[in-house]
Amino acid sequence: MKRYALYVFDLDGTLYRGSEPVPHAVDVVRTLVREGARVRYLTNNSGVTPEATTAKLAAMGFPVAPGEVYTTAMAAGHFCARHGIREAFVVGEPGLVSVLRSEGVEVVNATEAGSVGPFEGAMAPVTIVGICRTFTYALLDAALQQIRGGSRFIATNADVTYPMEGGRVQPGAGSLVAAVRACTNVQPQILGKPNPYLVEWILRDAGLSPRDALMVGDRIDTDINCGIAAGCDTYLVLTGVTEGPPTEQAFGADLRGLL
Ligand SMILES: [Mg+2]
Repeated sequence: MKRYALYVFDLDGTLYRGSEPVPHAVDVVRTLVREGARVRYLTNNSGVTPEATTAKLAAMGFPVAPGEVYTTAMAAGHFCARHGIREAFVVGEPGLVSVLRSEGVEVVNATEAGSVGPFEGAMAPVTIVGICRTFTYALLDAALQQIRGGSRFIATNADVTYPMEGGRVQPGAGSLVAAVRACTNVQPQILGKPNPYLVEWILRDAGLSPRDALMVGDRIDTDINCGIAAGCDTYLVLTGVTEGPPTEQAFGADLRGLL
């Protein structure tokens, strides 16, 4: 296949499923890097820190350096910094809280350790919803009150599920975003894929144009549509949530088609 200067890889379902690397993925990425390509890792997951994701990829054998992992938590932090937002109500995990704090954003409903809960205080300018495996009715209710009070509804991503080991899928942030949307009747601004926000940021950081990059992922509605929105070529793998071969889309059963 044609080689690109930069490969932007989705993570869940493309490079790993849960704690297991996808077969052939480590070899293919190592080969691309050895032959001169640059790689960046882009996940819609907001629950883990970039540092933890970098460590996970490195432990699996992927060639990864600090600064090469981009997450939707980073997009949320970047968004707040750019808009001068200093406070947020969060439906999310400590990884998201930690990235927001590093951008100078106070999370009004988080403990020092970064776990979130219901909050009765004043309205925050934004309500940020991401993956939250401690999600409760009380937290949903608090998000509803925030957004009804005028807090701006931001979603890290809209993936309704994500793939685990053994073909199992689990509810993703999009399922929780849908719950908040349902009770508020407000559409969120979604920062993660398919929004090209992070791919455009990656290209800017790398000093490359969209035609130099290939976006690789396992979801058409997020990864592939994100690559298209950014103006990049795209490649779909069937190792994650997409089962049937799509029409008019470059794809392969796994990553070996990139070589
Ligand atoms: Mg994926």
